[in-house]
Amino acid sequence: MLGWPGYRVYRQEIDEPAKRLKLWVRRKRGNRKLICSGCGRKLAEANDSYEREVRDLPCFEFRTTVVVELYRVRCPDCGVKTEKVPQLPSKAPFSKRFEEAVGLACESAAVRPVARQFGLASSTVRAIDVRYLSRWSEERRKPALRQMGVDEIYLGKKQKFLTVVSNLETGEPLWFGGERKKQTLDEFLEKHLSGFQRSAIRAACVDMWEPFRQSLEQWVPECRIIYDKFHILQHASQAVDEVRRAEFFRKGGAARDLVRGKRWLLLSSWLNLDRGKRRQLNALFALHRRILKAYLLKESLSHLWDYSYEGAMLNYLQKWIDQLGWQRLKPMEKLAGMLLAHLEGILNYCRTKVPMGVVEAVNGNIKALLRRGRGYRDMNYLLLKAQRLAATKTEFVAFQKAA
Ligand SMILES: [Zn+2]
Repeated sequence: MLGWPGYRVYRQEIDEPAKRLKLWVRRKRGNRKLICSGCGRKLAEANDSYEREVRDLPCFEFRTTVVVELYRVRCPDCGVKTEKVPQLPSKAPFSKRFEEAVGLACESAAVRPVARQFGLASSTVRAIDVRYLSRWSEERRKPALRQMGVDEIYLGKKQKFLTVVSNLETGEPLWFGGERKKQTLDEFLEKHLSGFQRSAIRAACVDMWEPFRQSLEQWVPECRIIYDKFHILQHASQAVDEVRRAEFFRKGGAARDLVRGKRWLLLSSWLNLDRGKRRQLNALFALHRRILKAYLLKESLSHLWDYSYEGAMLNYLQKWIDQLGWQRLKPMEKLAGMLLAHLEGILNYCRTKVPMGVVEAVNGNIKALLRRGRGYRDMNYLLLKAQRLAATKTEFVAFQKAA
């Protein structure tokens, strides 16, 4: 009944009104092999014994604690050490399976409701979750990195940017960096990968951001840089927004009111808008031809990735740039200049197939976690959480439902 192999209950106390159960357990007679917690060496002799009380899974509706009789060993290498017991992986007063139950609950709910459910403090739940995820991370085999994504997330005025390196094939984030400088990516490539691991990287999806390009060129010169759709369209959206802002300041009265608050609408793709929203945009476009032109240019740029042959892609891009000639849209002209300067990396999309949308999905998952969590001051926790989400694929769907 206890489910602690090799142990038996020798005493129990039931507090019926408080619904608490306390069990005292010790080793069964034949179970005499002790393991040093320092080095894993097997020892036959115990030095002394002591008791430790941990919270375990509830027994029926009784909150259950277990008092375990443990031994200390005299290890020739480590000196006097506590024995290693699989059900007690950390110094915290909880059994492994209790921590697993809490960690599992944290996969589908925020910290606060989990804390309420188990009668624990939020900080305790967070600490348990970190240990649960760290153990999972240490035990699993990590897939090789052949295609990597580099992205940044804006955290706000104080912390600014977070650089996110991800594995495009598995869709999981691998590493977080504090800023978005060349040194940021250098640190990952230099310190977190071996030379062999670096040589395995075939492609990298990045934003058109010079420091990242320089870092990749230095550390993984063989790797092909691909400027992906997601990032390029982000720049196109920014250009539309610049046009919108210029119109706002240029015009007054009703025309200005129409522009107000339309930022998010303009960032959306026409296909994703319902009838009411399309009508709102049409009303805006009727008075602001420049915004309409910019919006159409952004929309048509997204079709650049409909082509899988270099020549066709280049042809489409050339036509797209030609359209700008007579429109006098400064932000779009700037974007065109940027695209031409990064032409090789854009065309590389046709030369090396990388899954599109992964960078965007990883980015979206992390942002969803940040929105839900609030408590992610610990970046390591955030990373573990995002990795677990990617590995269990509970990710996106669950969050979209919540939103
Ligand atoms: Zn030892």
